[in-house]
Amino acid sequence: MRLILLGPPGAGKGTQAKVLVEAFGIPQLSTGDILRSAIAARTPMGLAAKAVMDRGDLVSNDIVNGIVSDRLDEADCENGFILDGFPRTIGQAEALDEMLSSKGMQLDAVVEMTADADVLVSRVVNRAKESNRPDDNPEVIRKRLDVYKKDTAPLVDYYRKQGLVRTVDGMAPVDQVTGAIKAAIGR
Ligand code: ADP
Repeated sequence: MRLILLGPPGAGKGTQAKVLVEAFGIPQLSTGDILRSAIAARTPMGLAAKAVMDRGDLVSNDIVNGIVSDRLDEADCENGFILDGFPRTIGQAEALDEMLSSKGMQLDAVVEMTADADVLVSRVVNRAKESNRPDDNPEVIRKRLDVYKKDTAPLVDYYRKQGLVRTVDGMAPVDQVTGAIKAAIGR
């Protein structure tokens, strides 16, 4: 099962990815988590990404495309994966298409998680209390939502043309969202 979870910040992609990891025995590939680990480890990549992430902008395609391509080559991705937070732009989606075809892999579905903008801000502000993420404050969240609308939302059409999009309501309770995703992908 090769899945992309698509949706605005706070839609619950990370939460659902973790449930699906358990259910399907395939890894979650979160570019946000990988970047945050690089920041914590003070690698050159982490240092380059930190300021960009803190203000809610997107890290360069060179960096994230490289992260994903390397990660897809690891053994645990052989039976599938759940991409969370990638692709985030049409350029990244095109790069992913190339990566997958060169690795002989095909996507099964792109799950679009819809959510209401006001709820998203309050969810992410709440998460900030535990997450210690510098980008989980109201101004940066609004910026991230703007970036989502402008750069990432067009991916729904991009993947709709490939017949891959399944839409679920991300505002429902967590287990209902999980059920809707499983039904949408036929599991
Ligand atoms: P969320 O889904 O809550 O917005 P993420 O953890 O996915 O948060 O991403 C946090 C930040 O990491 C983004 O705002 C961006 O700066 C950077 N980032 C993550 N994935 C990508 C990506 N695919 N392309 C560019 N930047 C990314």
